[in-house]
Amino acid sequence: MDYKALAELLFPDIIKTTDYYESIYPERNLPEGAKVTRFAPSPTGFVHFGSLFPVLVGERLARQSGGVFYLRIEDTDSKREVKGAEQDIINCYKYFGITFDEGITAGGAYAPYRQSERKEIYQTYAKKMVAEGKAYPCFCTPEELEEIRARQEAEKVTPGYYGKYVKCRDLDLDTVKDKLEKGIPYTIRYRCTGNANNKIKFTDLIKGTIELTENEIDHIILKSDGTPTYHFAHAVDDHLMRTTHVIRGEEWLPSLPYHIQLFSALGFKMPKYMHIAQLMRLEGNAKKKLSKRDKGASLSYYIQEGYAAESVLEYVMTLLNSNFEDWRRANPNEDLNKFPFSIKKMSPSGSLFDLVKLNDVSKNVVSRMSAEEVYNKLTVWAEKHDPEFYTILMRDPEYAKAILSIGRGGKNPRKDFAVWSEVKNYIGFFYNEYFKITDSIQGDFDKKDIIACIDGFLETYDSNDDQTAWFDKIRKVAEDNGFCPSVKDYKDNPTGYKGHVGDVSMFLRIAVTGKLNSPDLYQVMQVLGAEETKRRLFSFKNNI
Ligand code: GLU
Repeated sequence: MDYKALAELLFPDIIKTTDYYESIYPERNLPEGAKVTRFAPSPTGFVHFGSLFPVLVGERLARQSGGVFYLRIEDTDSKREVKGAEQDIINCYKYFGITFDEGITAGGAYAPYRQSERKEIYQTYAKKMVAEGKAYPCFCTPEELEEIRARQEAEKVTPGYYGKYVKCRDLDLDTVKDKLEKGIPYTIRYRCTGNANNKIKFTDLIKGTIELTENEIDHIILKSDGTPTYHFAHAVDDHLMRTTHVIRGEEWLPSLPYHIQLFSALGFKMPKYMHIAQLMRLEGNAKKKLSKRDKGASLSYYIQEGYAAESVLEYVMTLLNSNFEDWRRANPNEDLNKFPFSIKKMSPSGSLFDLVKLNDVSKNVVSRMSAEEVYNKLTVWAEKHDPEFYTILMRDPEYAKAILSIGRGGKNPRKDFAVWSEVKNYIGFFYNEYFKITDSIQGDFDKKDIIACIDGFLETYDSNDDQTAWFDKIRKVAEDNGFCPSVKDYKDNPTGYKGHVGDVSMFLRIAVTGKLNSPDLYQVMQVLGAEETKRRLFSFKNNI
């Protein structure tokens, strides 16, 4: 068989050679040990939260080693493609502060980074494979393929185009010519020499050395429209873009034996691989894959809810590296990017996704931020997701920052919010638009005692008092009205009093904040100002 003639017959328009591409996309000139990694999403309209894992690993490994992290869009499956999805991917990752050194937005010397623009490159490599007898055209119709599949099902064997089921592997030139002239659609298949009875050993940097079954299927490398399959594009692109480490989901692990064959058939050096386990969630005691419909499965969920990018990245890092939390304890204020990320500390098995844990992590992260930082991030979020609150926050930035300063700074900052969408609920009462008495007084108290306590407080309240003087006055109000000024003493003799100083504080708190729980009441009153504080106290006692 004259494979060269077959290649010319199939690809008359491909005149460049693979040598040409090898020369325009040369080995990268990077320092020893520099890693080249990529994020290679398909624009299918859904950015999975789980994609943050390979992305963060790829970004960290490249940046820590002085390498390159690039973005390649894998848009060869036009059936699954969704309009605008590419921009979604970019926006989502931008929110999380993930930047790319090269790719569809940044450009770069290995462009184009969009697979749909690389058709000619794939065809050049496919032509070479055909010319070397490593690939061939297949004219099987969908019906014929279905027939093969049905036979294989009946015979209870592995489905696929291989062994005795193959029809087109050795068509002669004249037959091919004839079919081409008739315009019969065809694909290009890899001529596989593997045998599924063989096992191969492979070392994945996360999973360790694993044993896999050799591939024996003549997979399609070019579809009938001339576009490549994922597998073929993976080999060609990661070779030509000089990727050193392929970091991807473990769903690709079963295809690895085929990828090894492709790299070898194409004469490419294999990159290193890291297959990241799927993110799981607990349902009862069972572990389930975090699927599209689950809460928190989509990255956009975190943006909408208003998770700070830092919180989500911090959480992902706790799952990615087992020593991260120790590092964080030792370096509470250090930038996340200073953490020495290590492949060795990655677990080969899947992480458990846990929104509760994420919220804990987030509360810690937000508690370390300054009021100014919280204000800036909160307003960016609110502008898009709660415009009314945004307007209110923008009305008096200094007031808003004073509110957000309460409980911030110091050794044990208040860990109040995990997401920006919760903030209104916590601090809304500072604004009359949102202020409402939502909680009721707990316990059995006489209305006139409540009023007397509030009156007592109003008589002596002075916003110039420091916190000690302020509280001493509340104690005095308690005492004057038959409430025990010390909670401890009250517990020793509960029947001797109408209540205790804590109860008096509760009356004041509900009157001023509308709630049983609020940030430090002294500071609340300071920020609210004497006039508004008094107004609320009067209004409360008058309406009780
Ligand atoms: N386009 C593939 C996907 O979205 C990329 C896999 C890879 O990183 O190689 O699953």
